[in-house]
Amino acid sequence: MRLLFIGPPGAGKGTQAGKVAARLGIPHVSTGEMFRDHVARDTDLGKQVKAIMEAGDYVPDEVTVAMLSERISQPDAEGGYILDGFPRTEAQVAALDDLLGDQGLDRVVVFDVDEDELVDRLLARGRADDTEETIRARFGIYQEQTQPLLDIYGERGLNVFVNGLGEVEEVSDRILLVLT
Ligand code: AMP
Repeated sequence: MRLLFIGPPGAGKGTQAGKVAARLGIPHVSTGEMFRDHVARDTDLGKQVKAIMEAGDYVPDEVTVAMLSERISQPDAEGGYILDGFPRTEAQVAALDDLLGDQGLDRVVVFDVDEDELVDRLLARGRADDTEETIRARFGIYQEQTQPLLDIYGERGLNVFVNGLGEVEEVSDRILLVLT
């Protein structure tokens, strides 16, 4: 099963992608984690992307798409994978379409999170960079950037919406339920 997880920052998307991937026996493919790993190992790719990531910018598509393409062509990805953090733009959707041909994604799992509940939850976590203002700003940016992707995949009938708030296991169960 080829899946894409889309959700706002702080909604537990990465955690869920990991849990659900383990339960389905398929790899969790997070471009952000892959880049962080390259930076940590100080590889050529890591050297190339470090400053970009520190500035909070997007890595150029040619670099991101090449890395992603190589990853999903590995034997462990033959039976499917969960994409997390890619695609993020319409250009990346087109690049993924080129890579996957007509056997594209099976489902797009969209974390449907109420903004006020997300604010309450993140404030309760008590991290210094989580103020109501920064949380709402991140949420707004996410909505702006993600809406075009939701529209594209929605037209293809791929979107499934899952309430992303709750206990970790409970949310994983919900996701698995909508996938079967
Ligand atoms: P994330 O953990 O998904 O927030 O990703 C961390 C950083 O990696 C981002 O701020 C970007 O610099 C880079 N990155 C991850 N995924 C992508 C992507 N699909 N396109 C471009 N840059 C990305």
